[in-house]
Amino acid sequence: MNENIFSKIVNNKIKSKIVYRDKYVTAFNDINPKCPVHIIIVPNIYIKNLNYINKSNILLLGKMLFIASKLAKKNNIDKSGYRIIINCNKNSGQEINYLHLHILGGCYLGKIINLK
Ligand code: AMP
Repeated sequence: MNENIFSKIVNNKIKSKIVYRDKYVTAFNDINPKCPVHIIIVPNIYIKNLNYINKSNILLLGKMLFIASKLAKKNNIDKSGYRIIINCNKNSGQEINYLHLHILGGCYLGKIINLK
């Protein structure tokens, strides 16, 4: 896996189920959903992961979270609950080197972490 998969989705070079797009972000269904609702949101500009953001990206990160809340509402998981995940590097299990957030909902997600 590398950054090109999400770059290609953003640039319409490979197909995906896009659920939202504007000037700043693109959101699409995860190809291997872990819950009934599993949406990925990426910035339209390439950022490798959260370690690579800077002050000029603060509004962009806010935009990603704002759109996540809107999509949660649209998918009727705002009341039942959902989780936002941003993985960063190896110990998080990050597979795709392109900053993205996951919206997971429509199923019980359990506690935040299980270190057993
Ligand atoms: P992460 O482990 O945070 O890097 O998550 C990467 C996510 O991207 C996984 O949940 C994959 O199922 C998802 N994924 C990989 N390829 C695609 C694709 N072509 N379209 C949509 N989601 C994808």
